[in-house]
Amino acid sequence: MLKIFNHWHGCRVVGTLVHSLWTCPEVTALWDGVRDTLSKVLNINVPLDPATCLLGIEPQGINCKSAQNIVTLACLATKSLILMNWKVSKANCFDMYNWLDEFLNLRSMEETASLLVYRDGDGNGLRAIIR
Ligand SMILES: [Zn+2]
Repeated sequence: MLKIFNHWHGCRVVGTLVHSLWTCPEVTALWDGVRDTLSKVLNINVPLDPATCLLGIEPQGINCKSAQNIVTLACLATKSLILMNWKVSKANCFDMYNWLDEFLNLRSMEETASLLVYRDGDGNGLRAIIR
């Protein structure tokens, strides 16, 4: 059963989590900005849909694995930014500068995690090291 939320940021819609993450007018401009930025940076048409953005399903029409990973990470950064700010009313919290900060923070965490996983020179992963 879907949970109903009182929405924030003045849209005054009582909606679901899908409204908060995808259809709310407060966040559609953010998703549009993410799509436009990714399309420019990757030099391809990046189609963003709820399956890709909300569920993390591999984006359709992007054949390059590194581009797919960037799109997936960008969607994760967008969801994180929305969820971290959904109950507060900060001006410009959904602008592309805040999104870029969130994206770079997630990218940095991903790089750090990969260093830990591949630290063992004998080919053992982190699970073997901490046993
Ligand atoms: Zn709303």
